[in-house]
Amino acid sequence: MTVHSLGVKVSCDGPDDETDCPQSAAIRASFTSLTATQVRADGRRDGWVRRRHEGRLVDLCPDCKSASPPGDDRERL
Ligand SMILES: [Zn+2]
Repeated sequence: MTVHSLGVKVSCDGPDDETDCPQSAAIRASFTSLTATQVRADGRRDGWVRRRHEGRLVDLCPDCKSASPPGDDRERL
C-alpha cells in the first residue's frame, strides 16, 4: 500500500506473493475518501475484496479475486 499526502491509495496485492497484479490495479477512490477504510469501501463497490492470506490481510482487485484458488483465504495453522 502506498500512502500519498493527499488521501491514500490502495493497490492490489494479488494474485499471490510471487506474482504482481497483471494490471497493477489500484482502487479508484472517491474525492471524499481520505482514509484507507473509506478507499476500501469504494473498492468493494467495484468488486474488490480484502482477505486473509498467509496470516496477513491483502487487497485484491476483481481480476485477482477470481484468479485465486477457492479456499486460499482460509486460516492455516
Ligand atoms: Zn489485481
